[in-house]
Amino acid sequence: AIYHENDLGFIPTMGSLHKGHHFLIRSSQKLCKKTLVSIFINPTQFNSKNDFKTYPRNLYKDLKFLKKLKVDFVYLPTTKQIYKNKKLSQIRLKKSQKILCAKMRKGHFEGVLDVLNRFIKLISPKIMFMGEKDYQQFFLVKDFIKKRFNMSVYLCKTVRNSNRVALSSRNNLLNKTNLKKVGLINNKLYKLKRSIITKNQSKNITPKKIKVLIKKTEVELTNKFNIKIEYLECRNLINLNTVIQNKPFKLFVAYYLNNVRLIDNF
Ligand code: AMP
Repeated sequence: AIYHENDLGFIPTMGSLHKGHHFLIRSSQKLCKKTLVSIFINPTQFNSKNDFKTYPRNLYKDLKFLKKLKVDFVYLPTTKQIYKNKKLSQIRLKKSQKILCAKMRKGHFEGVLDVLNRFIKLISPKIMFMGEKDYQQFFLVKDFIKKRFNMSVYLCKTVRNSNRVALSSRNNLLNKTNLKKVGLINNKLYKLKRSIITKNQSKNITPKKIKVLIKKTEVELTNKFNIKIEYLECRNLINLNTVIQNKPFKLFVAYYLNNVRLIDNF
């Protein structure tokens, strides 16, 4: 491992902290001398007013959590402090980047990149830590940062509960029955991933056949669990396009369960 002594690890979050955040913090504490966690529910990355309003907020609990983990710095800026300077350069995504969440949530990643740009200028971290659960976010952020800053982005594995449900602040908006549902949906998606891997290895698959396979699962899940799937797609991890032959790939999903938008990848 490379140890960056005297350097600062940065974990940007939107609060309602859980074991996924915990893992990012521990990774930073291993690799960096000091660790800074920000909690900021960034309004510009929400494409729905209601989503912003209902996003879980638990500041008191979060501060206790961070104290217990002996985090060196906690940064809790106000919206005014962050946005007192107008946008310097408009951030735009390329057409090829407008896939998955970028396609479904207009302006979302532009908001994410803009706020991280502001944070990084203020904080000057050596390493920023991000979770694999938001793989597309990591992918876009890494590309954005590489061009602008002398720092690295470290990807941490997704932390899951015993039902293989990815921990997420938005899970606070779900009741027990719905959380169980997410576990059952994930079982199906892991199974789908395995069958795509098997077919991919035997070279017995075309993009068209994959689509048919995915569509079948999509219909099943929609009917059985009463969810609204935004996308369910297989994409390679190199450039996130749909060619997966001889490439590492993941199955990416976004759906609404009980009006709560969930994303994951397998
Ligand atoms: P959020 O507070 O949801 O904006 O997430 C802050 C950071 O934590 C992002 O880099 C996420 O990818 C990461 N993260 C969220 N949930 C998990 C999880 N279950 N496992 C690992 N990282 C996560």
